Amino acid sequence: MNIIMFGPPGAGKGTQSKIIQQNYRIKQLSTGDMLRAEVASGSDLGNRLKAIMDAGELVSDEIIIELIANCIAEPECEKGFILDGFPRTVGQAKALDEMLTNMARKIDHVIVLKVDDQALIERIQTRASETGGARSDDNVETLKNRLKVYNDQTAPVLPYYEEKSLLRELDGMKAIEEVSADIEQILGQP
Ligand code: AMP
Repeated sequence: MNIIMFGPPGAGKGTQSKIIQQNYRIKQLSTGDMLRAEVASGSDLGNRLKAIMDAGELVSDEIIIELIANCIAEPECEKGFILDGFPRTVGQAKALDEMLTNMARKIDHVIVLKVDDQALIERIQTRASETGGARSDDNVETLKNRLKVYNDQTAPVLPYYEEKSLLRELDGMKAIEEVSADIEQILGQP
């Protein structure tokens, strides 16, 4: 089973992806985590990525598509995967389709977590204080741009999947366990 977790920054994609990974034994692929690992390595590429991420902008499709193409070909993704934070542009969505078609695979569900902007700002502030500011893009200033980028570049991916009848919209304002239960309704018993 291959799933896309979709929603604005702070909607709970990462939290729910980890729960799905544990319950369904399919692999979480977080492009944000992969990029943060590259930043932490201190490489030249990492330094360039950090500047983009700290500004709340998107990393180029080319870099991201290569990252994902390498991951989904790994044996640990054989049973399935959860894409957490990808695709974020229509170009990425189209590239993903092409990769999957070549592998004779497909996306089964696109789960969209809906959370209003004010709640997102509060969640990011909570995450920043709980993690001691571990993520340098978890501040209100950057978040505002991340939300703008989401609305301008990422939300247009939704009609692409709506056309394929893959969208499953959920109320992401609910408690974590309630959202997990709603997801289980869609995916079926683990
Ligand atoms: P996330 O942890 O998913 O919120 O991602 C953190 C940051 O990494 C984003 O604000 C972007 O700068 C970058 N990023 C993560 N995933 C992608 C993607 N699919 N396309 C472009 N940039 C991404």
